[in-house]
Amino acid sequence: MEIKILKKMLAANDRVAEELRNDFSLKNVYAVNMMSSPGSGKTAVIDRTLELMGREFRIGVIEGDIETSLDAERLSAHNVPVVSINTGPFGGDCHLESSWIREASSEIGLDNVDILFIENIGNLVCPAEFDTGAHTDIVILSTTEGEDKPLKYPLVFSKAGLLLINKCDLLDVLDFDIDMLEENARKTNPAIEIIRISAKTGEGFDKWTDWVKKRKREIH
Ligand code: MG
Ligand code: ZN
Repeated sequence: MEIKILKKMLAANDRVAEELRNDFSLKNVYAVNMMSSPGSGKTAVIDRTLELMGREFRIGVIEGDIETSLDAERLSAHNVPVVSINTGPFGGDCHLESSWIREASSEIGLDNVDILFIENIGNLVCPAEFDTGAHTDIVILSTTEGEDKPLKYPLVFSKAGLLLINKCDLLDVLDFDIDMLEENARKTNPAIEIIRISAKTGEGFDKWTDWVKKRKREIH
């Protein structure tokens, strides 16, 4: 019984996601869904991305968090439209559903943006099960986490088109085997692209912003 209900829910979510992706494409808005554990640096990555791309593109951000609008406030400093989705008042859901993304993006206004970053709620499990309507799913993993995460959480890595490895400025002081991480990620998803970055120093952001621009040109 419960499985039936869940399947129905997922089907409804997928339907809305498909419509939403169409709307994004019609309005020439490139939408990126960013998934990761808490603390991997999603907000810091978006922050620096806004700094680097904000003059060339009109960028909007949807910030998912269970509680607080702290991340949204931080990003608002860039004078870009940021809409916060807090799931706490509705039972603290640990993922974003496409109907909420639709609402948040109509609040931003699809005519007002070229690129939409969706910061999903920090967890590597159920955000991967819910299509947000974005064109691309990416996963961020930081060097302070384990190299075995792609093996432990295969769904999110198999859905992602890109893995951003953040906090690479810390590699010298950590016992983190970055090659092993890349190997594990490719084991889970042979097609995944990988870029090493540091939101703190800006390392790798030329590659990341080029990747976003290239993908943006490809949507229709
Ligand atoms: Mg955040
Ligand atoms: Zn969830």
